[in-house]
Amino acid sequence: MEKIILTGDRPTGKLHLGHYVGSIKKRLEMQSLGDYSKMYVMIADSQALTDNFDNPDKIRDSIKEIILDYLAGGVDPKKVVFFIQSMIPELTEYTFYYLNLVSLARLERNPTVKSELTQKEFRNNIPMGFLCYPVSQAADITLFRATDIPVGVDQLPMLEQTNEIVRKFNSLYGSTLVECKALLPDNETCFRLPGTDGKNKMSKSLGNCIYLSDSEEELREKVRSMYTDPDHIKVSDPGKVEGNVVFTYLDAFADSESFKKYCNDYESLDELKKAYQKGGVGDMYIKKILFNILNEFLTPIRARRLEYQKDMNNVMEILKKGTEEARGVAKENLAKFKKALRIDYFD
Ligand code: ATP
Ligand code: MG
Repeated sequence: MEKIILTGDRPTGKLHLGHYVGSIKKRLEMQSLGDYSKMYVMIADSQALTDNFDNPDKIRDSIKEIILDYLAGGVDPKKVVFFIQSMIPELTEYTFYYLNLVSLARLERNPTVKSELTQKEFRNNIPMGFLCYPVSQAADITLFRATDIPVGVDQLPMLEQTNEIVRKFNSLYGSTLVECKALLPDNETCFRLPGTDGKNKMSKSLGNCIYLSDSEEELREKVRSMYTDPDHIKVSDPGKVEGNVVFTYLDAFADSESFKKYCNDYESLDELKKAYQKGGVGDMYIKKILFNILNEFLTPIRARRLEYQKDMNNVMEILKKGTEEARGVAKENLAKFKKALRIDYFD
């Protein structure tokens, strides 16, 4: 079967380390493998508006930041089609017909939506657009006939919902749509990277992020105030490694080479963990190692960002060209979709 890759991000701010390890890293891997017929990266502005409809400028401004982050992170515009969701009106048509195939109860059961609803405190004023965003996400994936979706673990319920819609549509209207599967990170620590405050997920909405565009000074400050083990007060105290974000980030970002380069006293990360658990290793010590590793990781990304930033017209042109290409595909696929639905009256 043809392999088509599609992923995206909501333009609600800049991209952070969670995006990188959760999804961008896989995109880079896929792009260098090259064993796909198309790879799309969508900036999900319509979806971002479902819970930011009162702040359209934030979404507008974030589009530039996100495309810069992609390019800075190494996503190659020669191998990937970047596009803007709202500029593909065919997506709205798909969503409209999919809404017939999904019940309210089913939408309310979605665990990711459930936790986002609690976080956003909509109470009795849940916007319908927000509740239905998993349906519009099913449209994003299926309109482009995507088979492989590089995402973090929070997106699994969305893919499950998408495949349910695909099966229902195909059984009602004949085999038309294709099912998709998630491409999760190889390293389990990266399924859902926690925030610098130790909270469950690094997320733009929670303000606990290290951004790909953070300067060396910003990074230093964020690492300095990072959550560790609140009971590890004196250097000699035994410390916890589980739930200690410094160790979580070391698990996500250190490899044997970078570890050796920035830690001279311990053979491996495992040795350092054991010593910390026993007592005698200070937080400043582990934070210094982490700072150096993250700073080395971010240095080329910052440099590429600066380079692209010099010519924003070129950056926007990349996005415009990609959007035009995606629109062409969308028009073609919509025609087949409508035929399946028997609403192709004049063909
Ligand atoms: P928002 O708060 O606006 O929802 P977000 O930080 O959750 O923003 P999204 O744009 O919703 O980011 O997520 C885009 C992609 O990045 C998804 O595939 C998601 O799984 C992945 N992702 C986001 N945060 C993390 C994280 N902390 N760990 C792993 N993957 C993540
Ligand atoms: Mg999100």
